[in-house]
Amino acid sequence: MNEFELIARYFARSVHERQGVGDDCALIDVGDRTLAITTDLLTEHVHFFPDVAPASLGHKALAVNLSDLAAAGARPRCFLLSLSLPRADAAWLEAFSLAMFELADREGCELIGGDTTRAARIAGADGPVTVCITAIGEVDRSTLRGRSGARAGDDLWVSGELGDAALAVAHAFGQVALDQAQARACRQRLEWPQPRVALGLALRGLATAAIDISDGLLGDLGHVLERSGVGACVQVPGVPRSDTLRQMEPQLQRRCVLAGGDDYELLFTASPADRQAIAAVGHEGCIAITRIGTMTKDPGIRLEGDPGIDVTLRGFDHFAGTPEP
Ligand code: ADP
Ligand code: MG
Repeated sequence: MNEFELIARYFARSVHERQGVGDDCALIDVGDRTLAITTDLLTEHVHFFPDVAPASLGHKALAVNLSDLAAAGARPRCFLLSLSLPRADAAWLEAFSLAMFELADREGCELIGGDTTRAARIAGADGPVTVCITAIGEVDRSTLRGRSGARAGDDLWVSGELGDAALAVAHAFGQVALDQAQARACRQRLEWPQPRVALGLALRGLATAAIDISDGLLGDLGHVLERSGVGACVQVPGVPRSDTLRQMEPQLQRRCVLAGGDDYELLFTASPADRQAIAAVGHEGCIAITRIGTMTKDPGIRLEGDPGIDVTLRGFDHFAGTPEP
């Protein structure tokens, strides 16, 4: 049972709210407004290294949630912060909270509550740091979008560049040699992701479907295909990547751009009639937006333009390969 089978089997129920399990955000109607709600949990050793700078953790814990709001085209409004910490370390908390509030203030999003506990010591060692944020935003009811609106014939687009965060992880695990400048550049992408909130808002009425890439392009594109009932054809060499990543051997490049995680760029679909409008959005927002493929009637993902592709590449899955009981 993998992560998504687990969720589908035990937690996905039909709901009376506008949208439940299965998208980047849940949607609930309150009077004449619709709220988008999302939660993401980061835990030490799984999502971040024990030596992570507390400032980057404070930033990232909020950024990954704002990234889900961005996918839904929501304007951030407020958030809740739940923390489990092995100790109350003033310097750590100061740096963590400052960076978190810097991003929160920039995006106009207020902290309205949360919960704080001490992590139990296990076998004489500190328990892990765990940070869980729940973010709430507002969406326009006239331009609602999620993962389910892609249509055959739509273009497939992605913002920014993919793969640097995965390259930073490969470097941390000693799988690749990088010089100091390269290591710093991709570590920055891993630890200080920039949620594409403004882009998500600018794409209202243009994107037919969107998702933020947190688990790798193939995995997250797969979620769009499943929810939209379409397939996709991706031009692999056209998937945008940094100059640093371009210097790596091809197999590593493919793994990082297709199956790496933690990019927090937006992957979205739109009608070919809107190409100019989308280019203008990128231009105005000073962000690269690249067309990387087409949505198809045939199900599944077809990878084109790269004969060396490893067809076993998958997005990240916390429970991949877990045997059935
Ligand atoms: P994201 O990467 O955008 O945070 P995922 O693709 O990981 O979202 O999650 C898939 C869907 O499953 C989301 O709608 C999420 O809210 C939902 N989900 C994940 N875990 C649970 C859970 N334990 N209970 C209910 N819903 C869950
Ligand atoms: Mg998401």
